[in-house]
Amino acid sequence: MRKIVIVAGLISAVLAPPVCAATVVVTAAHMIDVIGGKTVDRPQVTIVDGRIAAVGHIGDAVPSDARKIELGARTILPGLIDMHVHLTADPTLSGYQGLEYTDNFWTVVGVANAKKTVEAGFTTVRNVGSGNYDDVALKQGIEHGYIPGPRIVPATYAIGATGGHCDSTEFPPSVTIPSPQIGDTPDQDRALVRKLRKYGAEVIKVCMTGGVLSKTDSVGAQQLSFSEIKAIVDEAHMLGMKVAVHAHGTDGINDALRAGVDTIEHASLADALSFRLAKEHGAWFDMDIYDDDYILAEGAKNGVFAESLAKEKMIGRKQRETFRAAHAAGVKMLFGTDGGVYPNGFNARQFATMVEWGMTPMESIQAATKSAAEALGKTGDVGAIETGRYGDIIAVDGDPLADVKLLQKVSFVLKGGEVVKAVE
Ligand SMILES: [Zn+2]
Repeated sequence: MRKIVIVAGLISAVLAPPVCAATVVVTAAHMIDVIGGKTVDRPQVTIVDGRIAAVGHIGDAVPSDARKIELGARTILPGLIDMHVHLTADPTLSGYQGLEYTDNFWTVVGVANAKKTVEAGFTTVRNVGSGNYDDVALKQGIEHGYIPGPRIVPATYAIGATGGHCDSTEFPPSVTIPSPQIGDTPDQDRALVRKLRKYGAEVIKVCMTGGVLSKTDSVGAQQLSFSEIKAIVDEAHMLGMKVAVHAHGTDGINDALRAGVDTIEHASLADALSFRLAKEHGAWFDMDIYDDDYILAEGAKNGVFAESLAKEKMIGRKQRETFRAAHAAGVKMLFGTDGGVYPNGFNARQFATMVEWGMTPMESIQAATKSAAEALGKTGDVGAIETGRYGDIIAVDGDPLADVKLLQKVSFVLKGGEVVKAVE
């Protein structure tokens, strides 16, 4: 077996796209400067070997060997970042419908969703939970040039407790489902962090409270003790990884914040104490406030469990109210949509919901660029059109600060200086 693995490695090296010195110069009418929080007119961005070498204005010198991309009246922005997706999920196959498919079917679903996501302008995603290490497979396939897709920060499996949101609770006791992600003591949880990192996790995802789409649990109930989440955070931080925590319920959110987690996902029932703890500990809230519309409209048809729809009805609006309150209280906010719970590729629909619930358009764009890069610890690579970062640039027709819905129709995508979606 060892020999076969080595040969496969050689083949992939041969098939990988050639890395050549290439200079690309992009011009447009306007640029959203997410770091300065302002619009810049007549920008000219020079990209050399995939990274931004200069950000100036039309009229600046252009290297003679440069490929010129003139975007005319359009506005350019940094490639967008979605901090919470599940590329290997399809919401139209919810509930028990997914059991009709073989295990690796979901990797194929991920191939299609990776393309839709990057063509929608999301050049980086954090994939916070998938089975079979298929997010690692997607990342490797994209990096080797086999398939188009965003840069992926994979979590692999989401760690959780027996009977919790990240366990498979929809089967009778006589049916055994492999659960490589379940831990019930601090020591077991530490071992899980080590194992997931060994096989490709770059961020640790933990299910701290109940959830909407899981059977048998109450959405607000805490499922890991403080000592368990503390063990996970300490182990992950020691290994240089950040921790993303699924938490709807107040007590779970607050214990996770006390343990030092990096991002709270959902945060639906966060209270004033949660806001204070988040600010004290420098944690981010990553709230999926668009998907409620999709789940309530399409869930029954898609096979979502009746009890899950009841939970969504209970928590959807409350989550939006919490979003507005958290933002007003000064909690650091991210752009994360739970893509996969709604169709991947619709990610940008959440910008309008964020603006409706209290953000300015610029703040919503910063949540998906500058802030997301900070929360990923990747400010040298992504999240802004700035010298040194990757040449990840998108364009829209018009001014997204006047109408944030324009981000739903991205007309051009450049990733690492290579055109992923050309202007039609
Ligand atoms: Zn999720």
